[in-house]
Formats: sequence, structure tokens, C-alpha cells
Amino acid sequence: AAAAPLLELRDLHVFYGAIEALKGVSLTVAEGEVVALLGANGAGKSTTLKAASGMLAPRSGEVLLRGERVDGIKSHELVQFGIGHVPEGRRVFARMSVLENLRMGAYRLKRPDPADLDRVFSLFPVLAERRKQISGTLSGGEQQMLAIGRALMGKPELLLLDEPSMGLAPLIVQQIFEILKEINAQGTTLLLVEQNAAQALQLADRGYVLETGEVVMADEASALLSHPRVRAAYLGEV
Ligand code: ATP
Repeated sequence: AAAAPLLELRDLHVFYGAIEALKGVSLTVAEGEVVALLGANGAGKSTTLKAASGMLAPRSGEVLLRGERVDGIKSHELVQFGIGHVPEGRRVFARMSVLENLRMGAYRLKRPDPADLDRVFSLFPVLAERRKQISGTLSGGEQQMLAIGRALMGKPELLLLDEPSMGLAPLIVQQIFEILKEINAQGTTLLLVEQNAAQALQLADRGYVLETGEVVMADEASALLSHPRVRAAYLGEV
């Protein structure tokens, strides 16, 4: 039989009170892939990532990691299962130094590996330069890099990224996407939520489009990039 996908979401239903934010979302992410999750504000992208990383419990449906059910496991424990989550708004510990933030990313690991810090510093040299700086005083781009670096310290096989480009200048976005490409090339699988659909689809192998809590399209990234509906709705073309 074919190997189970690294991540599979099966028919997820998630509610906020009476609001059904996910109405049966199913998707897969294979090992080594970059998968983009696109959709307008409120479509349910962040909710999908939160359900995948254990931050939210679905009312029904399943989250499978290599074919094993992991729904019901809390997010801090899922780190040990190889899922890292970089939430929206890059919530770094503002009063801690860069180095302290990075160490926090590894504290759930049974055996932290000094090589992980070297890896993060080689991906993000600016974090090495600023290792003693208080994180709240970093620029937005540097804080995003720190949030990604901190997640990498947990040695994720699968990294969930929520809007890594949000609020950042185009040049910084470009830089961050180059680094995401490198992180993937080094063997980490990525599931990426982005408003910046063009940027995300250039990096991704495949993509899903969410509308009001449902998957309405699923295809190769190149096919989505040239799809008239995607171009009109998410790539700002008429
Ligand atoms: P955005 O880019 O704005 O974050 P999104 O696609 O990530 O959009 P979600 O944040 O997943 O969308 O939200 C999906 C739906 O659930 C929306 O209708 C939103 O208003 C609602 N929602 C999200 N979080 C909550 C919450 N904590 N309480 C109530 N409703 C919520």
C-alpha cells in the first residue's frame, strides 16, 4: 500500500460557538511537499491550521499524522510528534532575547540538539547577529524570522505557517520565501496559509482554496496560478 500522507485532515468540522468555521474540510500534505492554503478573510484558513496543530479541537473529523489519529492531542504535545506551528501575527516573547525565544522552541524536546541553533542561525544570519537583543525591539521581518526559527528549534517534520508575509515589505517577503524554500529543501514539509496567493503558489507544489469553511478547489500550484477564478479572486486580476 502507498505510504500514508504526512498530514491528512478528514472532514473537519470546527465551531466557534454557533458559527461553523469549517464545514467538512479534507486535505492531505505529502512528505516533502509545500502546500498552500488560499482564501479570502474569514474563509477558515487559520482555523484549519489550528485544528491541524491541536490548538483547536474539531467537533468532528480526524487529523492524521502518518496515518495515526492525533486530534485530541494538545498543541504543546504535538511538537513531539513533529508538528510546528508559526501562528498569525508572529507572537514572539517580546521581553525575551532572541536566544531565549529560540531556546523556548526546543524546550519540549527530550534531547535538544545544539546543531539546531546553528541551523537556525545559518538560515537567518540576522538572528545570530542579534541573539542578545530583546525580541520586542526587532523589526517585523526579524520577528517573523524569529517566529519561524523558534518553530524550527522544535525539529518539526511539518511546519504550519500562518501568513508569514503579513504586514511586511515586499523585499522582506521575498527574503522570507527564499528561506522557506531552503527550509523545504532541507527536508521540512510546509503547509502555508497566505493572503499573498501569487507568492505562495510560486513556492508551493499544490494548493487548496477555501471559501466559507469549505474546500472549493484543489490542484497543482501551477494550475491554480493560471486558473481564471483564482486569478480574479486572489491574484488581483480582472
Ligand atoms: P483571516 O485571514 O482573516 O484570518 P481565515 O481564512 O484565516 O481568515 P479564520 O480566522 O479561520 O479565517 O476564521 C473563519 C471563521 O471563523 C470566520 O468567520 C471568523 O470570523 C470565525 N472566527 C475565527 N476565530 C473566531 C473566534 N475566536 N470566535 C468566533 N469566531 C471566530
